Amino acid sequence: MSFAATTTATPSFRIKRSTRGVPRTRMAVRSSTISVAPMLTKLQSDCATPLPVLRHVADSMSTDMHAGLAVDGGSDLKMILSYVDSLPTGNEKGLFYALDLGGTNFRVLRVQLGGKEERVIATEFEQVTIPEKLMFGTSEELFDFIASVLANFAQQEGGKFHLPPGRKREIGFTFSFPVKQTSIDSGILMKWTKGFAVSGTAGKDVVACLNEAMDRKGLDMRVSALVNDAVGTLAGARYWDDDVVVAVILGTGTNACYVERMDAIPKMQGKFSPSGRTIVNLEWGAFSKGLPLTVFDRDMDAASINPGEQIFEKTISGMYLGEIARRALLNMAEEGALFGESVPEKLSMPFILVTPHLSAMQQDNADDLQTVGSILYDVVGVESNLNSRKIVIEVCDTIVKRAGRLAGAGIVGILQKLGKDSKSAVFGKRTVVAMDGGLYERYPQCRRYIKEAVAELLGPETSQNIIIEHSKDGSGIGAALLAATNSQYDHDY
Ligand code: ADP
Ligand code: MG
Repeated sequence: MSFAATTTATPSFRIKRSTRGVPRTRMAVRSSTISVAPMLTKLQSDCATPLPVLRHVADSMSTDMHAGLAVDGGSDLKMILSYVDSLPTGNEKGLFYALDLGGTNFRVLRVQLGGKEERVIATEFEQVTIPEKLMFGTSEELFDFIASVLANFAQQEGGKFHLPPGRKREIGFTFSFPVKQTSIDSGILMKWTKGFAVSGTAGKDVVACLNEAMDRKGLDMRVSALVNDAVGTLAGARYWDDDVVVAVILGTGTNACYVERMDAIPKMQGKFSPSGRTIVNLEWGAFSKGLPLTVFDRDMDAASINPGEQIFEKTISGMYLGEIARRALLNMAEEGALFGESVPEKLSMPFILVTPHLSAMQQDNADDLQTVGSILYDVVGVESNLNSRKIVIEVCDTIVKRAGRLAGAGIVGILQKLGKDSKSAVFGKRTVVAMDGGLYERYPQCRRYIKEAVAELLGPETSQNIIIEHSKDGSGIGAALLAATNSQYDHDY
């Protein structure tokens, strides 16, 4: 198996070292930072997620799932039917493509599948950052960009990949925004999230938008499956492990999906699939019950392009954690003189501090917290002392702890729903939750808090059977696998 990144236009996050020489004299404890202590305590108590809060969130998630399955609009959770009724078995063969439009990155991938014995023979991918102006442009501009990246990538298909004569290249399209699925290969965009405000797409079939853009580019490929990243991740993880029943994404945004019995979905009104099961997409970013929120969350929400919406997403996903921390730190700088008498100007700029900064600062184990100092200097232009750096770390930890523990409670909510309803109980046997997304992958503390919350809620014995596992880039391969499972051509497997 080869795994070659043909190009990568996304720079990985690197800490600039331009402030190695922060003057030592400024490391002295200043009395000004002492008044910050009660502010930190207040933040910690506002963000606290003790067991009763976690229980309430898990129970509400289960209840909302039930209500959303009963009738459309029955709860915050849309419980969208994915039309994915059969999951990959390992027998899939042939060349398939995947497109992944997430929130930050856009990926194209091809994979040559070799069936049970050979599995993944070759895969290649390319990743580009979505130019910011396209997030606020027109639908045509966005889809033209996608089609042109795909066209370039398809042109570079090398000798490891083989398409039988007379076939079109088929695509699994991972589109990670709320879509009202109308079939396995069509779906209407309900609304943009994660800071996107592209005009002219809401209410349209996103596959048709892509097809039109491919036509404009003269690109003769066909979308066989439209899925979101959670569904793709579930399919990709299931390819390797039959015990995977839930998938959760923690990236720019967040979502979850799981395998449900058809007869547990009243709003299906008696429709059946041969397998008797289907994947349901929670769109759990819209969940809102019982979340411990602070004034910083409320202010960030009010200033967002979708106030009052996606509250769970705004509390636990990568797009927002840095901004919540920035608001808390700005408040401490203004009212508690966290960084001395003056308030760093750049700290007032929305979204200047991002989640990768929080993660990088929390990985600093040095006695003088040099990395924290560097990041604070580079990002907000402030020279900090050891005391203020420690407080900054505490703020980061408070925000990510709440996020991780609430995500863990959400996962338990899904498992509870399955355990209560399903004849095949999830508890008492090995059950795998496949996780993916940049936040989960690159923030070790976040991962730990998720697992801790699951263990706290389920107890040591039950939680031993619940495996929370990183399914790296599962959603790309997963979408390609679903293109194979739903191919328009005869399956020669
Ligand atoms: P998308 O959600 O756009 O599909 P990813 O799954 O790669 O893309 O997630 C990207 C998000 O992950 C970023 O917006 C950021 O919030 C978060 N992230 C990326 N790198 C890190 C990091 N080092 N630490 C914490 N979070 C990170
Ligand atoms: Mg993604």
